[in-house]
Amino acid sequence: MSDAATAVEAQGGEAAPLLEVRNIETYYGPIMAIRGVSLAVPQGKVVVVLGANGAGKTTVLKTISGVMDPQKGQVIYQGAEITRQDPNRIVARGISHVPEGREVFPFLSVRENLDMGAFLRRDREGMQEDLERVFDYFPRLAERANQQAGQLSGGEQQMLAIGRALMGRPKLLLLDEPSLGLAPLLVKEIFDIVSRINREQGVSILLVEQNANVALQVGDIGYVLEVGRIVMEDSCKALLQKDDIKEFYLGQKETGVRGKRRWKKKKLWR
Ligand code: ATP
Repeated sequence: MSDAATAVEAQGGEAAPLLEVRNIETYYGPIMAIRGVSLAVPQGKVVVVLGANGAGKTTVLKTISGVMDPQKGQVIYQGAEITRQDPNRIVARGISHVPEGREVFPFLSVRENLDMGAFLRRDREGMQEDLERVFDYFPRLAERANQQAGQLSGGEQQMLAIGRALMGRPKLLLLDEPSLGLAPLLVKEIFDIVSRINREQGVSILLVEQNANVALQVGDIGYVLEVGRIVMEDSCKALLQKDDIKEFYLGQKETGVRGKRRWKKKKLWR
């Protein structure tokens, strides 16, 4: 924790979050995808946004990283407003976005893909250190450094996309559904490494996921997003105990809490 943050906490106050999203509204043409979303990522924490297909998870991340501009609301990072800034300026400030579906450069080698993640940097020594760290987290990428990225498996491409983001030495990592399309064992491997990156390097993480089982295990704070709105917010520990989370995200109940069949039950977000 920084000296400033320690000082604030010593005075009994709460440190300002690293990232704050205030009441954003984002559209695709006439379609309002995000309907007034607010959330915060405290320094050093893993924050999870759960949501079904089409809930707006990807749009929230794109609005933070500057890929999309919100019609309303603000994105505040390290106390400064970054709303509608160009994505390359936002990367330079320390926010790296790992997009849904990895989006690696298929005809470039693994090593060249990783170099692309450091395209704004000039500190050769630091880049070399970070490359070694990425290879330490993901030994399979070291083994395949000269192979074309398009030939990697889905799991390896996910590792490469995370590694490429780490090459920007981010303070905040935005992760868009890293579990998508991967076998459970690989998902566990990747989430263990995400946890290590948070613990060992103090990188704060905003993770959007449908896979609540794994996401709530690694997260500190969780939000539930439904049709562009936040409907629930709590610690991940507490969310794991909530009936609606168990029923709709963890698949732990055959029948609703009132004994009704699942398909008839209405979500009340308790
Ligand atoms: P998924 O898990 O399926 O990626 P998501 O929670 O990330 O879902 P978004 O991709 O953010 O959801 O989409 C939010 C809403 O915006 C959805 O209703 C979706 O249909 C709509 N949407 C997304 N992309 C576009 C687009 N290019 N044009 C029009 N509408 C879009």
